[in-house]
Amino acid sequence: MIFDGDQRGAGYRNTLRFMNGYRTLLLGFYSTAENYVIAAYDPMRHREYAYSKSLQLRQESIDRALKVGLTFQIRTNGEVVVIFPLDSIEEYLQYAEDYHQVNPRITIDMQETTTTSLNVKQAVNTTLIPEQLPQLTPQERKRVVREIGRYIRDRRFEEAIKRVYERCAICDFQYDDIIDAAHIVSVADGGTDTYDNGLGLCPNCHRMYDRGLILVDGSGKIYLNSRYVEGYAQSGRAGSLESLGATLRKFIWQPLIAEHHPSPENLQRTFEARR
Ligand SMILES: [Zn+2]
Repeated sequence: MIFDGDQRGAGYRNTLRFMNGYRTLLLGFYSTAENYVIAAYDPMRHREYAYSKSLQLRQESIDRALKVGLTFQIRTNGEVVVIFPLDSIEEYLQYAEDYHQVNPRITIDMQETTTTSLNVKQAVNTTLIPEQLPQLTPQERKRVVREIGRYIRDRRFEEAIKRVYERCAICDFQYDDIIDAAHIVSVADGGTDTYDNGLGLCPNCHRMYDRGLILVDGSGKIYLNSRYVEGYAQSGRAGSLESLGATLRKFIWQPLIAEHHPSPENLQRTFEARR
């Protein structure tokens, strides 16, 4: 955000222009060999600004945007920055105002976990000035609130589970940064974002667990679902199931500290539902 003649400390204030019938966007970009990542700041929060060579983002947010598309980063002042690969720009343009105008403080379920990251903590403790929030219809607000709230809870849960699982709980696979945070009872079925409802799983085991091909009972014992065994045999794929079975643990691996363990109740509930 530099204009001609501007320099650090010169005391100049610049202003963004807002005109009827036009939209004002404030975008930064970051390029990789294959793609562009756009960071969209909230223009309303930068109506007036001084010399600023760059607006910083976390690398993690950029990586995530490249991997999954639209990503939010909430700055300590409460500003919602929307980060996305260039080809998602239409989606951003469609919802830009909703995304920026949400008040993080009211969107977050303040359920305390020991793993709350500092940034989220700072964000939720920041209050936006209500007058700066243009009116959203209750329905719009609900939708945005839900999306951002869900996003933040997902990130917390993911960080927490990844921290305590050194390996895939089902097959022992260990490789940096490849462990997924899996819900035992799915969120759709009322599962919570807590240690007792989480398992650190490699992507393969995660998918097979979610689909019920791999089962874990309340004692932590691992099974191949017998419902699938016959079908596999009939279609000539029995061998693939046998070799899969040979790679699995007998009982799930559990984190060192008991309070990080999955609960037998959640495991058993999902076992009953999927077997
Ligand atoms: Zn695994």
